[in-house]
Order: sequence, then C-alpha cells, then structure tokens
Amino acid sequence: SFESIMEFSQFKTNEQGLIPVVVQHYRTQEVLMLAYMNQESFDATIKTGKMTYYSRSRKSLWVKGETSGHFQYVKSLTIDCDYDTLLAKVDQVGAACHTGNPTCFFQPLAGREYDENNPLRVFESVYRTIEDRRIHPKEGSYTNYLFDKGIDKILKKVGEEATEVVIAAKNPNPEEVKYELADFLYHAMVLMVEKGIDWEDIVKELADR
Ligand code: AMP
Ligand code: ZN
Ligand code: ZN
Ligand code: ZN
Repeated sequence: SFESIMEFSQFKTNEQGLIPVVVQHYRTQEVLMLAYMNQESFDATIKTGKMTYYSRSRKSLWVKGETSGHFQYVKSLTIDCDYDTLLAKVDQVGAACHTGNPTCFFQPLAGREYDENNPLRVFESVYRTIEDRRIHPKEGSYTNYLFDKGIDKILKKVGEEATEVVIAAKNPNPEEVKYELADFLYHAMVLMVEKGIDWEDIVKELADR
C-alpha cells in the first residue's frame, strides 16, 4: 500500500467532487485512459494499490478490472500545478479499454500518430505476443514451433541469426543487416521469454552500467 503526501480534500475538484485522472503506462508512457476519482476512490486507490475510480455512468465506486481482470497496479500518483488533475502511472494488466484496445485513444481525428513506432513500445508489444503464444499456443505459429523444440533449438537460432547479422553487415547495402538484426532481436526475445527475462530487466541493466 501507498502513502499520499496530500489529502484528497486539498485537491480542486469539480462541482460533483470529482477529479480527472490521466492514466499512463509506467514503462512505455502510453496514455491509456482518463477517468474520475472521488474521495472514496482516491483513498481506496492509496490503500489497495489498485486504481479505483468513480464511475459516472454507474454512479458507484469502480475498481478498474473488477469484471475484466484488467487491473491497474499503481506505480505513482502525481498532482498537477493547480491541483485539479491527477496523473497515474500504472502497471496495466491486459487492455486498458473495455473495447479490448490497449489504450482508449485509438481513434485518430487530426494529424498523424508520431509515437506508434516508439521502440520500447514495439519491443514490449512483440514480447507480449511471444509470451501470449506460450500461454495460448496458436496453430502454425513459428514461435510455438520454437518453444516446442525447446531451449537448444532457440539457442541454435540465436547463434545462427547473430552470424547472419555479421555476414549481412559485410554488404554495403544496409537493408540486409536491418532485416537480419530484426530477425536476431525476435529470436533474442523468444530466448528472453523462455528464460523469464523481460525488457524491464534488460533496460535496467543497461541504465545501471
Ligand atoms: P473493468 O473495470 O475493466 O472490469 O470493466 C468494467 C466496466 O467498466 C466495463 O464493462 C465498462 O463499462 C467500463 N470500463 C472499463 N474500462 C473502461 C475504460 N477504459 N473507459 C471507460 N469505461 C471502461
Ligand atoms: Zn490543472
Ligand atoms: Zn476505452
Ligand atoms: Zn535471419
């Protein structure tokens, strides 16, 4: 459980006693959703470490994930400059949106999306897909073929792909090395899943050096 430096009563709420909460993925910084808290839901969030909102449609306390299982574990809460908006960084289980989309913000209106190829987000997403294949095997999946063959096959592929990167790099055309590096990184991620190492572990190791 958490402790808050400020009480809910110190926030500037709207006429209904609610404060909007911007919800962000703590690792990828993806904006997941916006919801509202009242005093009771704020206190419950602090107490349980699970994001708990006030549902304006149901007019009741709402533990995000209570029916879907898509809980949000609190990593941090921040209040904005004029105390009228909360920012929550969360560890999101499954999809944040009830439509099944990872985020509620999937309907472009104007301009283009600049962040869809955010490297960490793509790595996380491919990693999650590989992890998911292991739990729910899919007919004809190459990833499942690798898991079924086992660790020796995975290691052989990692070695092969590393060699292919080296060979491709001798070619002045960077297209081939790009392709082989992508191949290598995919197989490295299969190895990571097999070994229970996630991107947070890798990124932390790099950042600590
Ligand atoms: P959940 O809290 O994920 O178990 O979902 C319970 C119900 O809350 C859903 O059936 C939706 O009505 C609503 N809901 C869940 N997630 C969202 C969201 N991100 N935005 C708006 N409503 C949601
Ligand atoms: Zn504000
Ligand atoms: Zn949604
Ligand atoms: Zn290759």
